[in-house]
Amino acid sequence: MPKSGFVAIVGRPNAGKSTLLNRLVGEKVAIVSPVPQTTRNQIRGIVNHSEGQIVLIDTPGIHRPLHRLNQRMMKSVHAALEGLDLVLLIVDASIPFGEGDRFVLSLLKEKNLPAFLLLNKIDQMEKPALLPLIQRYASESNWLEVIPLSALTGENVDLLLQRIFGVLKESPCCFPDDQYTDQPERALAAEFVRERILHHTREEVPHSVAVIIEKFEEGGRLVRIYAAIFVERASQKGILIGQKGRMLKQIGSEARRELERLLNTKVYLELFVKVRPRWRDDDTALDEIGITKIRT
Ligand code: GDP
Ligand code: MG
Repeated sequence: MPKSGFVAIVGRPNAGKSTLLNRLVGEKVAIVSPVPQTTRNQIRGIVNHSEGQIVLIDTPGIHRPLHRLNQRMMKSVHAALEGLDLVLLIVDASIPFGEGDRFVLSLLKEKNLPAFLLLNKIDQMEKPALLPLIQRYASESNWLEVIPLSALTGENVDLLLQRIFGVLKESPCCFPDDQYTDQPERALAAEFVRERILHHTREEVPHSVAVIIEKFEEGGRLVRIYAAIFVERASQKGILIGQKGRMLKQIGSEARRELERLLNTKVYLELFVKVRPRWRDDDTALDEIGITKIRT
């Protein structure tokens, strides 16, 4: 009988949650970026392994809620913690333990969930620095395991998988074994476009951008995708479009190539940019963008 279960990856923004999820799943299902808070909704990845199946939940970075968007993100963190078999708390081992980590810890204690502590980014550390760190963290909570690893290089990721299956119970799998995410293809398309925007724009634009797929048409040997990019100011629109439309073209062709790989078909991708002041504090806009689709 195979094993299976639901496992959430939680941790501060930038700890490496999305990188780990992608590494475990072996497919790009969550976007990865050096800009914190790139993951706004829970995205699931499915690991199909000879021992069974793991359904992974990637959560938005945990932090104290500020404006309305962040409050909704926190709701999705709480929602992601319900009905789980295991929580993986991932921390960036190369920076000091901070207030944010303590906040996450108290959340886990409150929920009383079995948890592993993952000390990530050990590729950036001297090995002797690890032991005191493990001892320091081990005393903070009742971890089932404390595992140093690198989501980026894959070091110790097999060990992590082994230990996860050590915790999961025998039970039938939830998804067909050729499926690696339950996210609708549209949502992934929007995330891919957003990732390319974050990659190319840095400070000026990132947190003011939302991508909505307005049309997703499958027909013949081509998928046609029409995506609207929302920004808050006209100046941001200018940056995104770029000189003679070059920036938008670049973003579009990179996202299209990734989508073609994901969907395994030719893709026609059309992007347009719209200015929508203060969409992050506008409930109607948030509904449209799909940030409400979380039940709590
Ligand atoms: P998230 O906000 O927790 O989802 O973090 P991401 O997965 O988006 O990663 C944030 C940044 O840390 C990215 O630039 C990653 O490439 C980097 N990163 C993630 N894991 C590792 C790691 O094991 N080693 C190193 N050196 N960098 C990492
Ligand atoms: Mg992320």
